[in-house]
Amino acid sequence: MSLDQSYITRYCDAVPTVNGKYKVHCPNCRNIPTKKGKLKPDKRSAVLIPLEKCNSKYVFHCSRCKDEGRHSGMEFLPYLFLTSTTAAERYKAEKNGYSHLVFKQPKFN
Ligand SMILES: [Zn+2]
Repeated sequence: MSLDQSYITRYCDAVPTVNGKYKVHCPNCRNIPTKKGKLKPDKRSAVLIPLEKCNSKYVFHCSRCKDEGRHSGMEFLPYLFLTSTTAAERYKAEKNGYSHLVFKQPKFN
């Protein structure tokens, strides 16, 4: 399991599909009413798609935002920041290889 996949399954409330994508909630339009005025906060209108040449990386794409002319695609890290800032900071640290650093209280003797 890649780093992206482990964060998707842990933090994104994602549902895997048969073709390797994950259905997720869209942080941009989840709370916007539909054209008929209904709210559908539980509907997963967006997907995280594995990149063609690199299956370990994912990009975010929302079909509803695209249909309504809003920005619909982004890389995984900005998406994670909109979903959970703590998870995104941890992801960034792990990706850049400094998650092993532990901050200890200094000793004054
Ligand atoms: Zn959307």
